Amino acid sequence: MKYASPSSVEEATGVLAGALSAQVFAGATDVVPQIRAGRKQPEILVDLKGIKELLNVSNEATHWRVGAATPTARLTQDSDFSSEFPGLSEAAGLIGSDQIQNRSSLGGNLCNGSPAADSVPAMVVNGVRAVVAGGSGSRTVPVSEIVTGPGKTSLADDEFIVEFEIDHMPAHTGDAYLRLIPRTEMDIAVVGVGVRVTLNNGGQVSAADIVLGAVAPTIVRVPEAEAALVGNQINDEILATVSAAASAACNPIDDKRGTIAYRKQVAGVLAKRAVLLAAERAAERNGDAK
Ligand SMILES: Cc1cc2nc3c(=O)[nH]c(=O)nc-3n(C[C@H](O)[C@H](O)[C@H](O)COP(=O)(O)OP(=O)(O)OC[C@H]3O[C@@H](n4cnc5c(N)ncnc54)[C@H](O)[C@@H]3O)c2cc1C
Repeated sequence: MKYASPSSVEEATGVLAGALSAQVFAGATDVVPQIRAGRKQPEILVDLKGIKELLNVSNEATHWRVGAATPTARLTQDSDFSSEFPGLSEAAGLIGSDQIQNRSSLGGNLCNGSPAADSVPAMVVNGVRAVVAGGSGSRTVPVSEIVTGPGKTSLADDEFIVEFEIDHMPAHTGDAYLRLIPRTEMDIAVVGVGVRVTLNNGGQVSAADIVLGAVAPTIVRVPEAEAALVGNQINDEILATVSAAASAACNPIDDKRGTIAYRKQVAGVLAKRAVLLAAERAAERNGDAK
């Protein structure tokens, strides 16, 4: 197996275009275990961590740019980022352990295509966009359109994600990500729930996004729960509708981490709790995003 460490986006796309079977990597916290298990044998491994755009984190006028290979630890350690996007920051902070988070990236978490990837529901509720580079140029795609099935993405063989664009959180808006794992450390989610809520001046919900992870082959939006919230004050009746809609939206598997019935029930409970947490954060965010 060959190893390449390009120092620019152009050099990397050139390596990918010239190889029969190439695989990019950032932290390699998914790639190395998969190669060791014999699941992948690329001809050439392309290390993205030598490209400066992929390690950049910057807070710009209208949005944040987060390099796709940036260690997720940066997102929990940057207090400006974590106070603006507490849910996304907490999702990044749930990946593995401190050691894993010093390597793991948002690009890898997304493109590994695991249904249980923690950062993905939190990115999708925040409308995050992926800037994709490839042989035929660059394109910007919503994160929700990258993963097409377990281990599968919509990226072409010569494409990779350069960075993520995250619009500033509007006023009166808050996000949350909650997950359940069967033990206290280092396990993957039985259910993960990302929520973002915007409140109007009267305290009613004016926008809501609810996305479940680990309960179907790809993430699941819950439009019935979003519709139940919008235009209303959050109360027990609305929360019961949110909970029932989240449980009904699941299409989970039975495995050692939980039965189908258990996952559905947990999805309902976590959706309700995540809505309350996101709304509490929205109520506290009076000012401008920056
Ligand atoms: C002990 C342990 C615990 C873990 N715990 C969790 C957990 O709690 N939650 C969780 O969600 N995950 C967990 N993981 C999985 C893993 O750490 C995460 O998915 C991590 O975010 C992957 O990032 P990475 O940079 O290491 O990806 P890599 O291993 O480098 O790459 C993963 C995949 O993404 C592709 N890829 C990487 N970067 C790009 C890019 N820029 N553009 C296109 N494709 C790209 C690679 O080709 C590969 O297919 C755990 C892993 C381990 C080993």
